[in-house]
Amino acid sequence: MGEKQLSELGKKSVDSEFFSPVPEGYQKGKYKYVFITGSVISGIGKGTVTSSIAKLLEERGLKVSPMKAEAYYNVDAGTLNPFRHGEVFVLDDGTETDMDLGSYERFIDGNLTKENYLTTGKILTEILEKERAGKYLGRDVQFIPHVTGETKKYFRKLAVDSKAEVILIEIGGTVGDYENMYLLEAARQLRYEEGEDNVCFINLTYIFEPKTLGEQKSKAAQLGIKKMIEMGLMPDIVICRSENPVHDTIREKISVFSNVPLNRVIGLHDSKEFYRIPLMLKEQGLDKAVFETLKIDEKKLVNNKSLEKWTEKMTVVNPKKKILIGIAGKYTGLKDSYISIIKALEHCEAEFNVKIEVKWIEATEIETAKKKVSEVMKGVNGLIVPGGYGKRGAEGKVECIKYCREKNIPFLGICYGLQMALVEFARNVLGKKNASTSEIDSKTEFPVVCLLPDQRKIEGLGGNNRLGGFDIEVKKNSIAFELYGKEKVRERFRHRYECNPDYIKEFESKGLVFSGKAPKVNIMQIIELPKHKFFFGTQYHPEFTSRPLNPSPCFKGLIKACL
Ligand code: GLN
Repeated sequence: MGEKQLSELGKKSVDSEFFSPVPEGYQKGKYKYVFITGSVISGIGKGTVTSSIAKLLEERGLKVSPMKAEAYYNVDAGTLNPFRHGEVFVLDDGTETDMDLGSYERFIDGNLTKENYLTTGKILTEILEKERAGKYLGRDVQFIPHVTGETKKYFRKLAVDSKAEVILIEIGGTVGDYENMYLLEAARQLRYEEGEDNVCFINLTYIFEPKTLGEQKSKAAQLGIKKMIEMGLMPDIVICRSENPVHDTIREKISVFSNVPLNRVIGLHDSKEFYRIPLMLKEQGLDKAVFETLKIDEKKLVNNKSLEKWTEKMTVVNPKKKILIGIAGKYTGLKDSYISIIKALEHCEAEFNVKIEVKWIEATEIETAKKKVSEVMKGVNGLIVPGGYGKRGAEGKVECIKYCREKNIPFLGICYGLQMALVEFARNVLGKKNASTSEIDSKTEFPVVCLLPDQRKIEGLGGNNRLGGFDIEVKKNSIAFELYGKEKVRERFRHRYECNPDYIKEFESKGLVFSGKAPKVNIMQIIELPKHKFFFGTQYHPEFTSRPLNPSPCFKGLIKACL
């Protein structure tokens, strides 16, 4: 990347204390930045609020690009355990990210890139590589100005590359954490360098309502905001999360303690109607508050009034039917590990005007015979076996798939789910009792699922699955073709194993159809059983591309079959 220094901010020399490289083509004053920070506690929906702001601004014709700036030292999310951190979301360009990126993509209905995701690990890797290459010209490399300088460069690089007018930056963690301090400091410096009118700080805080008191308390929020002010970050807008609607007196208190005008202290209480959140924020003037602080002339903006329609379509009021979908996985204790699947089901709820309930099936419990398959599958109208890795829970998944195949219950197998379906079919239809995937049994007699050729040479973990968007050739006269309506589709992948090509013929001879494959190579991407109500497996993750008004065809197929 070409870099130069913001001239008035300093020269690149050993003697200068300034260090603020900017990417090629950067024009100061051309872009507006909105930082979304959290205080008091994490996990109160910063990602949803950031996505909502993006939606509100887009509705007014502004081009926005959201970034998640994450404070952990991992270079990307690829090595993170979804049980601790929630789902690993995969972008079309193959970047493995935090699940918030999924939320952004769904709300703005667009594809993001590696530029939209930043981690401490990524910044530090660059700094250390540059240091080894002598790029800091003999300077001692410091937290300020170097770490913050490189961080600001990433913020600005997103502006240049995305060509967006407004860059939204969600800072991971809460104010007061050690880890994200450099991100907050970089934000403070950016405001100074870009000018007050170009940078807006939004703080998402929490108002407690202890049961023993029966009233809302603002002290924790006040202290959180105070912490932010101490770091030189004066909030422009405060959003108060709470269980019940925030009382005006609480909003007034926050206003007094934070110097934020009352119209910019916004309440956001818990709501079952997730898709109403952008509208709830708009009704309280959040969009106007952003325009006010960034000196954006609202009169010059269009108003495409799409939000009301979107909200109405996505909020299912009178569902015509209720169905129960089982999800057999091994991280069922933390629902965030499968968040995109849940969202894809919600998209189908709106599409078909139905209520979809989810039953979490802990695959390990079937394995250890704590629970019988017939017992866990009771009342389940359709089953999803999601992606996964490793041995634990695998046999339980195979059992559930067998049940669906034999009892003609709609089934959607995603990635590992497809691979488990192949194992099940090989064992119980092809009669290969010891069939398995070499992922869990490297010495299996019948490795019906094995490593992809490109994966055989790879050592170590992190960023080396087959990752990102790839084209799929869809076979005509198949269920897949019926669902997609075209012969070429693009979906997102994250895997190392595939159907072993040596067994394809045998699978086909017993009625299994490979209805999607990678162009030019023999990698199978979709399987189906034509005689079954719906038995469909994808080597890719259709949940990553499902969007509110445009649900994934694979999920639509499953739900339609259940109805
Ligand atoms: N573990 C399997 C593989 O590596 C499946 C991966 C997944 O489900 N994302 O191919």
